[in-house]
Amino acid sequence: ANEVVILSGALEFGSKTVAQVMTSLQDVFMVSVDSILDYKTMSAIVDNGHSRIPVFQGKRTNIVGLLYFKDLAFVDPDDNIPLKTVLDFHDHELHMVMDDHRLDRMLEEFKRGKSHICIVKTVRNDGPGDPYYEIVGIVTLEDVIEELIQSEINDE
Ligand code: ADP
Repeated sequence: ANEVVILSGALEFGSKTVAQVMTSLQDVFMVSVDSILDYKTMSAIVDNGHSRIPVFQGKRTNIVGLLYFKDLAFVDPDDNIPLKTVLDFHDHELHMVMDDHRLDRMLEEFKRGKSHICIVKTVRNDGPGDPYYEIVGIVTLEDVIEELIQSEINDE
């Protein structure tokens, strides 16, 4: 590969947006903030296998926190602890990003920050009322890296 090839691959990656690589909200495994960490809920989380689980209140577009799989290491399902107790104890930061955020910036932010997951929102201004934000998905470092590698491979 020469400099032109490498540079154009990098530029292509940079001009892409979070919306193009995110996991859409309907495909995101989440739990309700009102859940009890009983056997049923904990099995669902274990079976799902994701390391970070958004927590919603009421409706899925209302994400209020983030539960890490490892937060559950010392939780005994027989104790029937409210999920909210564990959520508040760990209190992981919840970062938001707009869906038109560029991937090169996203990568830099993931590299700098502690958290490798972001909640993605968009602006809805199609209705008669005022524009409003709506959560549409999640993006992780792995989504961004995958796109970066793809753009490098496609360029060869
Ligand atoms: P994990 O460690 O849970 O596998 P990664 O950050 O490696 O998470 O991401 C792998 C893929 O899974 C990415 O496409 C990401 O968007 C997606 N992902 C991460 N968390 C969830 C979740 N809770 N529900 C659905 N998909 C998820």
